[in-house]
Amino acid sequence: MTGTVTSAAWEPVDFALDETQSRYRELARRVAVDRLAAGYQRRERTGFIEPDLMLEIGGLGLIAPETTERLGGRGLDRLTTGIITEEISRGDINVGLLQVVGSLVTQILAENARTEVAGQWVPRICSGEHIVAIGLSEPNAGSDAGMPAMRARRERGGYVLNGQKSMSFCMQASGAVVFARTSAEEVRGRGISAFLVPLAAQGVTRDRFADMGATAVGRGAAHFNEVWIPESHLLGNQGQGFSQVMHGLDYSRALIGLQCVGAAQVSVEETWNYVSHREAFDRPLSTFQGVSFPLAEAETLLAAARLLCRQTLALKDRGLTHTAEAAMCKWWAPKISGEIIQNCLVLHGQAGYRTDRPLQQRLRDVLGLQIGDGTAQIMKLIITRHRLGRALAP
Ligand SMILES: Cc1cc2nc3c(=O)[nH]c(=O)nc-3n(C[C@H](O)[C@H](O)[C@H](O)COP(=O)(O)OP(=O)(O)OC[C@H]3O[C@@H](n4cnc5c(N)ncnc54)[C@H](O)[C@@H]3O)c2cc1C
Repeated sequence: MTGTVTSAAWEPVDFALDETQSRYRELARRVAVDRLAAGYQRRERTGFIEPDLMLEIGGLGLIAPETTERLGGRGLDRLTTGIITEEISRGDINVGLLQVVGSLVTQILAENARTEVAGQWVPRICSGEHIVAIGLSEPNAGSDAGMPAMRARRERGGYVLNGQKSMSFCMQASGAVVFARTSAEEVRGRGISAFLVPLAAQGVTRDRFADMGATAVGRGAAHFNEVWIPESHLLGNQGQGFSQVMHGLDYSRALIGLQCVGAAQVSVEETWNYVSHREAFDRPLSTFQGVSFPLAEAETLLAAARLLCRQTLALKDRGLTHTAEAAMCKWWAPKISGEIIQNCLVLHGQAGYRTDRPLQQRLRDVLGLQIGDGTAQIMKLIITRHRLGRALAP
């Protein structure tokens, strides 16, 4: 079998930050240091992000800042959103996810919701008043999200939903974008509609998962039992919800890459500092090649991952296709970040192993992002399909 191999659409991008980008980077860095880092471990214990903190971050324009000003955003480019996401994640990678989900959902709502529904929800997501979760996965449909068991039927001027979704921010969100089959045919990725569901609606119940990390994002299962929502809460056209969300995920995948880069970069900086001060065999640890070179390699890998993610966002800003590039960000940045944080932990010796230090938590949190929004295998499948076409891909 032969096929046409498509070439990568790389174009050089100028990454000198402009005045606005530099200003937001400094602002987000200050918030990470002054407001987020000290509470990172506390949020793991409490299992949520403080509502006042969300309002504070939203008030500074650090949640979904690419949203138009008309809908409560700052109208920034996506590259700036990525820079903000990385900086926030240096202080708390889970607050970084609040921003990523905010950007993903506001984009879906701004593009697909009825004007009055978008006007009601989007400004409140940007301000930090509301979280709207994204409910694509189900107990039996994660990688295979195009085959949901959740159903929606038309009734009483709206839709009635039945099924279950697994999602981040399940416990704290006021609403969720969910995907349900609206057609009788069982075709993968077809006949699926997207809805915005207020989670206070009658028939919705929620359970928290006992996750090994990222507990501050309150992942859990939302159960929908005969939940009625008005027709106005259908997003886009009936039956076309799946293609709408897949297009949105290209954006969040590049942002997740930068979340992981932020958590790994701050770990490397802490480790440089530690090995410069701690001595063994009468010398600072940094004078041993076996200590410094893994950190030098980490700096190199993180610089490359950051460029890949920024390049992907720059392609999006220019309206160019970036699906394969986003998949590269999503499999590679979480993988190297996990490896780098693990190395940093070991370079701290027994001090790194303590649960009152953040390294072990960052490692567990980054591991979750190797799975959330699609695993490495699924990302490599997407890249292969983009190069060879579906017929020649696994
Ligand atoms: C921290 C975290 C946050 C999450 N947040 C959300 C959220 O906000 N919203 C949401 O909807 N979901 C969320 N998820 C769910 C996540 O998207 C799914 O867990 C993920 O897509 C994998 O699906 P699954 O767990 O059903 O695994 P499965 O699909 O059962 O896969 C199991 C294993 O098989 C591999 N596999 C499956 N199919 C193939 C294939 N064709 N080729 C090669 N390998 C394959 C996978 O890579 C994986 O390693 C989150 C998960 C985590 C861990």
